[in-house]
Amino acid sequence: MPLYQFRCAACGPFDRTFPMATVPDAAGCPTCASAARRQITGPRLAHGATAAMCLLDATKRSASEPAVVTGPRPGVVRNPTPTTANPLHRTLPRP
Ligand SMILES: [Zn+2]
Repeated sequence: MPLYQFRCAACGPFDRTFPMATVPDAAGCPTCASAARRQITGPRLAHGATAAMCLLDATKRSASEPAVVTGPRPGVVRNPTPTTANPLHRTLPRP
């Protein structure tokens, strides 16, 4: 069932779920029980996000807002064996 947003004049917005065929233009406010008008909103497709949707959102968000870290996560052990035999690679700057 879709989620609709209503706005109480005294208490502000709240959400209610109704079947599409029976959605009213006004619903009772859960706080003061007065009639609250239904608001026109965009589709609320992300509500009740699944794990896959959360992963997709986090992946998209990392492109524009990458997480800044100062070191490896606790418990992560760096590779003790070097991946290169060139001794000059040891002089390269480290993070
Ligand atoms: Zn109210």
